[in-house]
Amino acid sequence: MQIMYRSTRSSDFRVTASQAVLQGLAPDGGLFVPEKLPRCAGDWNALASQTYQETALQIMSLLLTDYTQEELQGCIDRAYDSKFDIPQITCLKETDGVWYLELFHGATIAFKDMALSILPHLMTTAAAKNGIKDEIVILTATSGDTGKAAMAGFADVPGTKIIVFYPKGGVSAVQERQMLTQRGANVHVVGINGNFDDAQSAVKRIFSDPEMKERMAASGKRFSSANSINIGRLVPQIVYYFYAYGQLVKDGRVSAGDPINITVPTGNFGNILAAYYAKQMGLPVRKLICASNENKVLVDFFRTGAYDRNRSFRLTSSPSMDILISSNLERLIYQSCKEDPSVTKKLMDSLASSGVYRITEEMQDCMKDFYGNYASEKETSEEIARVYDSHGYVIDTHTAVASRVCRKYQAETGDHLPMVIASTASPYKFARTVVCAIRPELQKKTDFELIDALFEISGTAIPQAIEDIRTAPVLHHTVVDTQDMPGEIVRWLGI
Ligand SMILES: *Cc1c(COP(=O)(O)O)cnc(C)c1O
Repeated sequence: MQIMYRSTRSSDFRVTASQAVLQGLAPDGGLFVPEKLPRCAGDWNALASQTYQETALQIMSLLLTDYTQEELQGCIDRAYDSKFDIPQITCLKETDGVWYLELFHGATIAFKDMALSILPHLMTTAAAKNGIKDEIVILTATSGDTGKAAMAGFADVPGTKIIVFYPKGGVSAVQERQMLTQRGANVHVVGINGNFDDAQSAVKRIFSDPEMKERMAASGKRFSSANSINIGRLVPQIVYYFYAYGQLVKDGRVSAGDPINITVPTGNFGNILAAYYAKQMGLPVRKLICASNENKVLVDFFRTGAYDRNRSFRLTSSPSMDILISSNLERLIYQSCKEDPSVTKKLMDSLASSGVYRITEEMQDCMKDFYGNYASEKETSEEIARVYDSHGYVIDTHTAVASRVCRKYQAETGDHLPMVIASTASPYKFARTVVCAIRPELQKKTDFELIDALFEISGTAIPQAIEDIRTAPVLHHTVVDTQDMPGEIVRWLGI
């Protein structure tokens, strides 16, 4: 079955998967969504015996239907290799009936590697398939992890350039150093005086600016996106939920076909949307628990049906979730209004102009699979200490938000189905907060001393990504105001 993709904001655009990957965002500013979600055959025992790469081929070929099996296999082989520090790519760690799905074994030690190690290959394959000769310029706004993972994926990939904008002062020390030391002649990193939402909104405006588009075309270039608005990010993220389920069946933790719950620490709503797509494709998932930090706009949305970003933006210890405009929610909105692009467009226009929109009760009913809650800064740090003290297992700040919210959900509902928690970053990436939660007396130490302390505490090897930044020189120094982002692009590209 051929799956085509449509924009959430008008019915003018209907494209193949490879075209959707190339474009990133639809020309009307909408997001591409599959016209139909294919069903996965559902042989859970067969799934249990598959490698990660085999599951990736099975799931991705259901959704990216204009790629050949050979093309997808080539992309998978180049993405999921020894860049990951465990051969199984991802793994589950249990603590009393809850399984942490460790998605941080890739090159930049956050879950973004799961999709961004394959996106460059999907994109260059798509360009070749569609006879595109233009140079592809990836424009990306990052809350901390996407930037590094995207640069690692695209660095020195022929026919591509990548520009990353991150909130100066809004990311962790390790995250910033990882980005600023990135090598590659085709990469450019720029700090902005603003937060992630400012960066993301500016990038979206640049994408839909006709003058910029013309300028790019005149010099043989075109923009695309490595953010989770790109379907080429979302599809590879569906894979690991299937794989995780297979592993639970294989280990006898779940009987084939029995339901599980999934908790996801959420920012841009990409990772949890992938879990929801997996459910709609037939994966036995009952509830999707959407975990927020103190920027809890989604919690209020699920409770009231009103999305209201007019509130103060908080910098937290889980910076990759410091987001008030969760882009991928648009895809859920679209689905909940019976795929009516005019309704979706109206709501998104209202978000852009007033910062608020409200959905109908009928639409809210379509979101019953979701439960939203949040963890405060204090609860997050307590959760890191609790999990360590009771199980000797160290989790990062984002995972701790999810872990705490998972307990709140279980206590509130009494629902104790097997739970998978998406563990989205290595604790080494947020060493300061993690170590200080467990050993507050170490507060005065430097960042690298804390990394060594974390090694002592956790007994898990210091990842190569951390060793790499100890001595690497800082190569990027540019910081601009939000309104100067287009000018910086024009300058760096020389267009
Ligand atoms: C990006 C990120 C998140 C949030 O994921 P979304 O897909 O944006 O919801 C959570 N944790 C970490 C560590 C991240 O890098």
